[in-house]
Amino acid sequence: MQAAGGGVAGRNTLPALGDAASEDLGVGAERRLGDRIMQEARRDPALLDDPLLVEYVRSLFAPLLQAAQARGDLSAELAQHFAWETFVVRDRSVNAFALPGGYIGVHLGLLSMTGTRDELASVLAHELAHVTQRHIARMLESNRRQSMLGAVAMILGVMAAARSNVDAANAMIVGGQAAMAQGQLNFSRDMEREADRVGFGVLEQAGFARSGMAGMFERMQQAQRLTDYNQFPYLRSHPLTTERVAEARTRLGIEAAGGALDLVGSGGERALWWHAAMQGRARGLMDARSEVLQRLAEPGANGDQGPPALAGAYAAAVAATRLKQWAKADAALDRARRLAAPSPEAERAVHMLQVESLLERGRPQDAAARLAQAPADASRAGLLLASRVALAMPGPAQGLARQAEDLRTWVALHPQDGSAWLALGLLEERLGARLAALRAQAEAQLAWGDLDGAVDRLRAGQRLARSGAAAADSVEAAVIDARLKAVEERRRRDRVDGADLPR
Ligand SMILES: [Zn+2]
Repeated sequence: MQAAGGGVAGRNTLPALGDAASEDLGVGAERRLGDRIMQEARRDPALLDDPLLVEYVRSLFAPLLQAAQARGDLSAELAQHFAWETFVVRDRSVNAFALPGGYIGVHLGLLSMTGTRDELASVLAHELAHVTQRHIARMLESNRRQSMLGAVAMILGVMAAARSNVDAANAMIVGGQAAMAQGQLNFSRDMEREADRVGFGVLEQAGFARSGMAGMFERMQQAQRLTDYNQFPYLRSHPLTTERVAEARTRLGIEAAGGALDLVGSGGERALWWHAAMQGRARGLMDARSEVLQRLAEPGANGDQGPPALAGAYAAAVAATRLKQWAKADAALDRARRLAAPSPEAERAVHMLQVESLLERGRPQDAAARLAQAPADASRAGLLLASRVALAMPGPAQGLARQAEDLRTWVALHPQDGSAWLALGLLEERLGARLAALRAQAEAQLAWGDLDGAVDRLRAGQRLARSGAAAADSVEAAVIDARLKAVEERRRRDRVDGADLPR
C-alpha cells in the first residue's frame, strides 16, 4: 500500500533518493502520526491478533530489521524512535503495507499465498525499505498542509478500501475517498525501485534465499496476467513496470540461473513445513463465508504429502472447527499431525490448534490434558493459550493464580499487549481481585487505542476503591489513580493534536 500524512513533515528539504540519513526530518512527528493511525486501526476488528501468525511474521521481520541496521540502511535514531511492529489484517486479499512510524501490516491473503518464508520475507523487506528510506516522510512533505486527523482518516480509508471483505456499501464510500486519496498516496516509481533494491540487499543480508524475491515476482506476474486486482491489491500499489521486472531479473540473475533456483529456501525443510502450517492457518482464518469453509474442510484438496498437504490439512482443521464439524476437524488434525513431524515448529502449531479445537467444543478438561502433553511454552502464544484453557475450566481451577502471575510478569515487560491485559483482567476477576481486574481492562482498552474506554474503567476502579469495598487493596488503588491521571493527560494531548501535530 501507500502511506502518507500531512502537516507533520520536517522543516528541511528532503534528502535525495538513496540517502537514508534524514535525522532531522521529524522522526518523532512521523512516529506520532503512525501511533495515531494505529490507535484507530487497533479498534478495527479486521486487525487480527492471532498469536501464532503474529509470532510467525515477527520471527521473519526481526532478522530483516537487524540486517537493515547492519547494512547501514537504518540509522540509530530511526531504529530507536520507530515502532518496528508488524501486524496481521484479517483479509483474504493479497496485500502488505507500511504505515508512518514503522508499522507494517500483512493481510492473511498474502500469508496464505506465499509458498515459502522467503517469499513472505521478500515482501516484508520491500516494505521495510520504504520505511528506512524515509519514503513515507517524503510523502508527508508533499501533503504537509493537511491536518493530522485528515491524514489519519485518509490512510485508514485506503487501508479499508484495500480489503476484500468490507461490506459493499461501505466499501463504495471508503473506496471513493480512497481513490481520491490514491493519487496523493502512491509511492513514486523511483521509490518502488529503490525499495526493491534496498529490500533485496536486506533480504540477502538477513540470510533469506533470493529465490523468495524471484518467487514473489513470478506470482505477481501471474496475477497481473489475470488482472485479478481485487484479490491482489498489492499489485495495484506495486505495478510490475517493465523497468522493475528487468531490474529484478538482473539482480536475481534469473536468466543466468535458468530454473536452477533454490526451491527449498532458507531454513531448509524444517522452515518449509513451518511455513506450510502458517499458510494453512491463514487460509482457514481469512474467509468467513460458509461455502468457502465447507470447501476447505474437505480432505485431500492438496494431495497427501509435502508441505502443500500440511497447509491443506491445517486449513481443513481450522475450517472444520469454525464450522463445528468435529469429525472432519479430528480427521484433519490427525493428518496435520502426521505431516508436521519433520518440523518441531509445525508440530507445535498443530498441537496448539488441537487445544483450540477442544476449547471450541466446550471441552476444557480435554484441552488442558492436551496442553499438558507438550512442555510448558513460555512464548506469548503459549501464555495466551494456557490462559484461555485456565479460564475455560469450570469452578475454582488451581491453574488460575499461576496463570495470572505469568501474565502479570508478561505485561510488566510488554505493557502494550492488549490481548494479554484482557486475559489478565478475566483471570483477576475469577480470582476475586476486582480492582486489579478493572485496571487490567483499562490497560487493554488503552493498548487498543480506546482512551475513553480506559478512563471509564479506571473511574469505575476509583469509585470501587472509595466505596471501601476493596479497601484492603491500597496499592492497586494508588496505581489506578496514577494511571487515570496519565490517561486523561494523554487524551487532552490527543485533542490538541487533532488540529495539527505540533513539532
Ligand atoms: Zn512498495
